[in-house]
Amino acid sequence: MNRSHRIALLSEHASPAALLGGEDAGGQNVYVDELSRHLGRLGHAVDVFARRDRADTPEVIAWAPGVRIVNLEAGPPRPLPKDYIWPLMPAFRDAFLDFMARDGHSGGAGYDLLHGNFWMSGWVATELRLALGIPAVQIFHALGKTKRRHQGPADTSPPGRVWVELRTVDEVERLIAQCPSERAELVGDYGAAPEKVALIPAGVNTDTFRPVAHAEARRRIGLDPDRPVIVYVGRILPRKDVRNVVRAVAYLVRCWEDAGRPGDAPLLLVVGGETAEPDPVATPEIGELRRLAADLGIAEHVYFTGQRPQGILRDYYGAGDVVVTTPWYEPFGLTPLEGMACGRPVIGAAVGGIAFTVADGETGFLVPPRDPEALAGRLRQLLARPDLRARMGRAARARVEREFTWATTAGRMAALYEEALASPAAGERRTAGEEQPATVAAPLGAFLQAAGVAPLADAAAYAEADS
Ligand code: UDP
Repeated sequence: MNRSHRIALLSEHASPAALLGGEDAGGQNVYVDELSRHLGRLGHAVDVFARRDRADTPEVIAWAPGVRIVNLEAGPPRPLPKDYIWPLMPAFRDAFLDFMARDGHSGGAGYDLLHGNFWMSGWVATELRLALGIPAVQIFHALGKTKRRHQGPADTSPPGRVWVELRTVDEVERLIAQCPSERAELVGDYGAAPEKVALIPAGVNTDTFRPVAHAEARRRIGLDPDRPVIVYVGRILPRKDVRNVVRAVAYLVRCWEDAGRPGDAPLLLVVGGETAEPDPVATPEIGELRRLAADLGIAEHVYFTGQRPQGILRDYYGAGDVVVTTPWYEPFGLTPLEGMACGRPVIGAAVGGIAFTVADGETGFLVPPRDPEALAGRLRQLLARPDLRARMGRAARARVEREFTWATTAGRMAALYEEALASPAAGERRTAGEEQPATVAAPLGAFLQAAGVAPLADAAAYAEADS
């Protein structure tokens, strides 16, 4: 990659500046942060566009060498659940164009390429691509049809999501899949042309996430050095199915009791949530998990820490003998990679990206989702075998260094950008300097009506309904 480009990375609800680990702040925030920094290191100029969700944030933040965060005015400047911000997307698009017109940074040159994250920014990228005559690439992070399949009526996505995804798949120059199952979904469920889809997995920061000796990690977070510890790190939502892990731990506790050693039974460490202290009001799923643990008689075997910043998470992964994550589905899943980078074996559900990142039998084990007995079986096996844990932990770290670093992800992304920039479709559509098409002038075109969404005028009321 020897040419440098100006990239607009659109990430409407997930800013790198947001706290991590909360309900709507997770993997996408980390992704946009790390990818933009590494693209910056490769010499690209990257602006990350997010919706302003605090009144006191400046419009532009110099984030890292070559990287700025631009907070665009779209709706009330306060946090909103991401499912509520779809009607604000026309305002987000218009705020982008307004910023671009005022921004002197590029000497008025604008952007070479758009990179959309998530379906809503996919809509914005598709619109801006037409308006600016530049190519767009898209990563969805999660797909509406998959979500609907797994969550059914519990899926709170606004109507029109799949419509928007289909249109984005058709129009952008390139699509990014993070794992083979996502590529299969894009091709099978959304009719994407296979040659348009690049497989580019996310990475993990191998400095932040590095092996720490058990004893040292446990001392730092105040845990008994000898007790077996199983660790879960991540958002605490029903989809992540930490309940499955609690049920598996209940099996283990019974095994230890049967063996006459109840005092030595494993501890489940649960890291994450909306707040630094575990709070069942801010994170209702913590309340559910506590109730479940109490019902199963293992309350003292489950310890919630609350949310922790990424910079110290290696102590939490490192304190564990085994890292575990068994969601019903997982579009990619950064936490298994983080556990692997910390040199710990990971037991994960054989779904989505986890089935791709965890090498079954080599860096950990894959188990079926919603199957606490199967999980308990693998946990017992690993907890009984320090040699196997050590071997798998070393293999896990090696696999991350080989396959999943951000430098590799950014290098592949830069190559994909070159492809998109060179694609004939993009060339033909170059309209720089020409009059803007009507779709941009009319914020609420036939498109929004066709997608069956609330008109923009209702957005504030729609957003208020949540408070
Ligand atoms: N995370 C964090 N602090 C916490 C819990 C989670 O920083 O207390 C981070 C974690 O390190 C990971 C991200 O949140 O990078 C979760 O990403 P993942 O892809 O595993 O799941 P998602 O949140 O995207 O569903």
